[in-house]
Amino acid sequence: MTTVAAYAAPSAKAPLERTTIERRAVGEFDVLIDIEFAGICHSDIHQAREGWGEAIFPMVPGHEIAGVVSEVGPGVTKYQVGDRVGVGCMVDSCRECENCRAGLEQYCLKGQIGTYNALDKNGEPTYGGYSQKIVVDENFVLRIPDGLSLDVAAPLLCAGITTYSPLKRFNVGPGKKVAILGFGGLGHMGVKIAHALGAEVTVLSQSLRKQDDGLKLGADHYYATSDQTTFQDLRGTFDVILSTVSAPLNLDAFLSLLKSEGAFVNVGAPEEPVALNLFSVIGGGKTLAGSMIGGITETQEMLDFCAAHGIGAEIELIDADQINEAYERVVSSDVRYRFVIDTATI
Ligand code: NAP
Ligand code: ZN
Repeated sequence: MTTVAAYAAPSAKAPLERTTIERRAVGEFDVLIDIEFAGICHSDIHQAREGWGEAIFPMVPGHEIAGVVSEVGPGVTKYQVGDRVGVGCMVDSCRECENCRAGLEQYCLKGQIGTYNALDKNGEPTYGGYSQKIVVDENFVLRIPDGLSLDVAAPLLCAGITTYSPLKRFNVGPGKKVAILGFGGLGHMGVKIAHALGAEVTVLSQSLRKQDDGLKLGADHYYATSDQTTFQDLRGTFDVILSTVSAPLNLDAFLSLLKSEGAFVNVGAPEEPVALNLFSVIGGGKTLAGSMIGGITETQEMLDFCAAHGIGAEIELIDADQINEAYERVVSSDVRYRFVIDTATI
């Protein structure tokens, strides 16, 4: 066991504070990673505040982890000391079920093991990336390509894969019109990736406040959803809408913006249920889909794709004592576009 400095939420009502946690000894197939950067995902906030239901405390959030390998177990074949690596939202799965065998470990039928707010195979709580070191089985470690710096690569481990996976699955590419709904951490990655895939990209944001950034990062068009004329102007426009919105939204209104047989793909995970009039999907034969992160092989594919296209996240690097303030800014949609913690400051 190694004692490691970390930032943790002691309970759902309390701010995060500095503490220490124990990491397990490096096992046969484990990699010890010296964490350098950890992104702040809105999912960290949903969980630390129990917005999605009961959680495990103390909680060390963080599933956008980038660092360097400092020790490997005797059975490790994929990584060596000094390798630049990342860890995303899962640290293990059953590896045997139909989904795990198909590279869909995120949908493991026995339940994948979350990087934090979960119990590992020994029943011990998992702790995430707001810490200085982590021990992870090599099969759940990703290689960060040389062309990507670790700070802008960290958010790819969740925001990158969560947008890349559904954009690929729904064939977003040349000749396709895609709307990215919500222009925050996931949304700005969605814009960059959809643009790199060759699609015509529209941002649908609450206001035009971030329009200049959106157009600079790869959007062709930018509309405010607070303006009702947007819904008239864009009716029947899109092949695919990818929603990254963290709050309940008017699904029926957004479904009306799809072409016939278009798909609305939801990755945003609001804390409250949303209503749906089923006629919104019946008319026009529309698809309403969801997606959760991506499998390990696809996550590596995404990292390689981002490196090849020079894509990293737009980040605001913060010290650990700014985490609570950063949470408030994320909740009020005041993030440009991902907070990343310099874990040396923990
Ligand atoms: P974020 O940076 O806070 O971005 C969310 C965006 O949603 C905001 O920037 C804002 O965009 C829009 N928004 C927020 N409140 C809104 C409201 N009341 N009405 C309309 N739009 C609103 O969060 P994130 O880290 O990108 O995460 C987004 C959501 O995806 C969260 O719920 C998170 O838990 C979830 N998530 C899901 C997965 C998955 O695997 N499915 C993975 C990661 C995260 P504008 O300012 O442009 O309007
Ligand atoms: Zn996340």
